[in-house]
Amino acid sequence: MARPIGSLLFFLSLAALASAPARADEPPLGSIRIEAPEGDFRAEEFRRNVMAGLRVMKDRSPHLARLLRAAQQAPAPITVHPMIDETGPHLAGDRYRPHARVAGRPSVARDGRVGFPAAIFLTPGMVNPHWIQYKRGLLPHELLHGVDIAHARMPRDRRLVERRAMFVENIWRDLHGWRLAEHYTDQTLDLFETQEYQRAKAHDAIARCMDVLLSVSSFACP
Ligand SMILES: [Zn+2]
Repeated sequence: MARPIGSLLFFLSLAALASAPARADEPPLGSIRIEAPEGDFRAEEFRRNVMAGLRVMKDRSPHLARLLRAAQQAPAPITVHPMIDETGPHLAGDRYRPHARVAGRPSVARDGRVGFPAAIFLTPGMVNPHWIQYKRGLLPHELLHGVDIAHARMPRDRRLVERRAMFVENIWRDLHGWRLAEHYTDQTLDLFETQEYQRAKAHDAIARCMDVLLSVSSFACP
């Protein structure tokens, strides 16, 4: 029984790919790549959802639109990988934690800018608007890490790295009426406060903080 079902799925997936042309209103990807192995339904859905998420950034927030442009115009590629199965290139034993990392040697773009290829990893649920995780803003969070890597803005202080990403995560959360994140913690970092966005909003300084995020690797923001 497994074999006919397997080949049926294979042909259905080919049909799905053939019927999914690039939409005219999709933002151009520029330096962004989306890893979606041909014939894999879940990866193809992931690709569509990432594109939709980028469209939300472009159309609904001038600040996230700037982050998207910085990604599109990055001097090195930023590849978005779906964390779908146990054989992917993401971390063994910790496979559903979203993350970003340097994915190769530094390169020099035609205009002389230096950057590192970046890889970011998200689960399908993190980019699916029907899932609760979507509202957490992990797409812009990891994209900010990717932009930092691709523009060679890599502070040594991991708290600083995460405070920068939490700023755009909170822009997304605010956009979706979701509770703003006030702290960050993970396996290697003790809990610390991340209220730069809240303070910037109160001081009407969001655009000024985005200037800082997209030009230097520090984060002097209210
Ligand atoms: Zn992060």
